[in-house]
Amino acid sequence: MSRYVISLGGNALGKDADGQKALLKGVAKALFPLIKEGHDIVIVHGNGPQVGMINLAFTESQSTPLMPFPECGAMSQGYIGFHIQNAIDNHMAQSSLKRPVVTLVSQVIVDRHDPAFDHPTKPIGSFYTKDEAEILTKTMGYVMTEDAGRGYRRVIASPKPIDIVEKDSILTLLDQGHVVIAAGGGGIPVVFENHALHGIDAVIDKDHASAKMAEIIGADALVILTAVDYVKIHYNTDQETDLKRITVSQLEDLMAENHFKKGSMLPKVEAAMAFVKATGHPAVIASLAHAEDAFKQQSGTLIVSG
Ligand code: ADP
Ligand code: MG
Repeated sequence: MSRYVISLGGNALGKDADGQKALLKGVAKALFPLIKEGHDIVIVHGNGPQVGMINLAFTESQSTPLMPFPECGAMSQGYIGFHIQNAIDNHMAQSSLKRPVVTLVSQVIVDRHDPAFDHPTKPIGSFYTKDEAEILTKTMGYVMTEDAGRGYRRVIASPKPIDIVEKDSILTLLDQGHVVIAAGGGGIPVVFENHALHGIDAVIDKDHASAKMAEIIGADALVILTAVDYVKIHYNTDQETDLKRITVSQLEDLMAENHFKKGSMLPKVEAAMAFVKATGHPAVIASLAHAEDAFKQQSGTLIVSG
């Protein structure tokens, strides 16, 4: 029996509630063999479009109070977790398998002095005119930047995850045989100040959060499931080549040659490397479509130490 952290990307979740429910049926099917074999499983998922949608709805509504960003993150963990639990429960019921599946609202500690707070990069919410943007900066203290000629948008920081507040609960649930969905959207970012935890406006990259999770819970493997079958070099050119098995030091060289796009494949490669370096255990970056083979290390890019 092994312990896995599985990171689910945007292609597992779709664009709205109905689309998400439909796509997650496929996810439940892909994860079923692993669940059936009795492995310890923690699922970490993304939430970019979902938390954006929630935030936008509250921002545009005239009749509801503004919802702070960490609370929007918590809401997204709740409803995405509901859909994942529901999909796995229903798939198990088809074959009379019973394992408890649970979503944990998870806080992830970040450092207020993380350099990411000096240079916020993640756009969220709607587009504004220059005048509206200036008012938001004055009244709300938002950092606003121009977004590719389409108007002004709020940007927030993407700091690195340091620790998972609910880690003891996650470990207890795993020991009891529960499938755990945790640190959704990278976790709700919190800072520890004046002897208390406080939510902070930020987004933690879910790939980095899944690597931190895998390290903390002592996972045997980190499996990052996304939309492509392999990490590639010379991506999108006629020299494009799949990476099948690669060491951390080989990957470091390729990273220096800029083969992996910032904001999409780079965080996955960095997260995989961080986990392998910290633990000596392997990481796999593979497609959701070939998840079953990826768990057996027969599909996807296998990252090993060395
Ligand atoms: P997720 O929602 O799973 O985090 P992302 O879109 O953020 O997915 O990242 C995966 C995407 O990264 C791939 O679908 C692909 O379009 C893109 N990508 C960028 N560089 C590479 C590369 N070198 N090899 C493979 N895919 C790459
Ligand atoms: Mg991504």
